[in-house]
Amino acid sequence: MRMKGGACAFAVILASVVVFAQGSRQVALVISNGIVVTVDGANRIINPGAVAIDGADIVAVGTADDIRRRFRGRETIDAIGQVVMPGLVNTHTHAPMVLFRGLADDLALEEWLTKYIFPAEAKTVSPEFVRAGTRLAALEMIESGTTTYADMYYFEEEIAKETKAAGLRGVLGETVIQFPVADAKTPAEALARAETFINTFRNDPLITPAVAPHAIYTNDSATLKAARALSMKYGVPTLIHMAETQSEAMTARERGSPTVVSYLDTLGFLGPGVVAAHAVWVNESDMGLLKSRGVGVSHNPESNMKLASGIAPVKAYLAANVAIGLGTDGAASNNDLDMFEAMRTASFLQKVATSDPTTVSANTAVQMATIGGARALGMEKQIGSLEAGKHADIIIVSMRAARQAPMYDPMSHLVYVTRGDDVQTTIVNGKILMRNRKVLTLDRAAILRETKTWAAKVSAAVAR
Ligand SMILES: [Zn+2]
Repeated sequence: MRMKGGACAFAVILASVVVFAQGSRQVALVISNGIVVTVDGANRIINPGAVAIDGADIVAVGTADDIRRRFRGRETIDAIGQVVMPGLVNTHTHAPMVLFRGLADDLALEEWLTKYIFPAEAKTVSPEFVRAGTRLAALEMIESGTTTYADMYYFEEEIAKETKAAGLRGVLGETVIQFPVADAKTPAEALARAETFINTFRNDPLITPAVAPHAIYTNDSATLKAARALSMKYGVPTLIHMAETQSEAMTARERGSPTVVSYLDTLGFLGPGVVAAHAVWVNESDMGLLKSRGVGVSHNPESNMKLASGIAPVKAYLAANVAIGLGTDGAASNNDLDMFEAMRTASFLQKVATSDPTTVSANTAVQMATIGGARALGMEKQIGSLEAGKHADIIIVSMRAARQAPMYDPMSHLVYVTRGDDVQTTIVNGKILMRNRKVLTLDRAAILRETKTWAAKVSAAVAR
């Protein structure tokens, strides 16, 4: 009798295991019970929601019950009470410039660049400097929820290596500039470096190599054309500072065009894959050109405010459906890489500039920092929202701080009260880079130590 009963119980257990296994698929990771802000086409917020992740990709997004029925995670993160959202996309920065953070403030762009930044760069920028700066920037980005960033600097291959080691996704542009800089004596040398860089990283899962002609006032028309031709040859993005300050238009006028955008159009420069940082000083016809040529725009409100560059017409860009994302710019002109601040500032600045409190709503700001940035970089099919088939670039944001209570609307909180250090967990390409505020891919203490050493060298470089 006992034997028979035991066998019967065993059969029941076996049957239920079979049913369970048939009904649910094992995946690498399930994030469960969160307030899932998808930023998908319908802008769904699923609460309680869950995300199933396998390999580098999102497998499914749904209600917590639905995902529990269909998937078993080898690892599960319980995100109860927290927001689960797409990682933030910083569309414009110069990562290693974190080492110049706070070096010179309260100056206009030209004086700031020519008296401080360019001289400091001339004396300190090296592959080692760039690597140390990128490690610090990557630490800050992972800790504040950025999962993809677009960069323009020197020795971009070193930036790429550190970006990969940190586990971040990068659209990294090798700078092309007319005068001699740390990694190239001439534009031709810079272009050759850019081509080698493209060939080294073009098939990388995390790195999209790009060409970054600095701006029109730092490059002649032949160099601008050559830089654009190189990115077209390989189908990689072209990153450029465009119409950042009013004085930049003088360069365009000297070259026979009324505006920076119209000048670049006469060169045949504008087209899909171009990412225009700033685009502050544009008229209606420039805006039409940016839209019709498929140029992405990177709005950097904090840098524009700090350098008094002007206010980009974001409300008009949005109305014209130009692909527009947010950026921080380099930390020397911000002074941090916190994309939550960028969201809040973008919203406030546009409201005050247009006397319209309804413009750049919390919803719009979140979109600009995620799917909007992805669109501006031409990556909207891979990243920028939580949808099955996209890469698993995801952040989990705590809503436990006193300043976040009570919570009626998570979108409102993400823009108007949340800070970068509310981010608890950062995932890129399915890999957990930070879990519960502990960065797993970088040695935080060592990075902060080496930053002090570099700061001493930078101080010595600008000392009179
Ligand atoms: Zn910049």
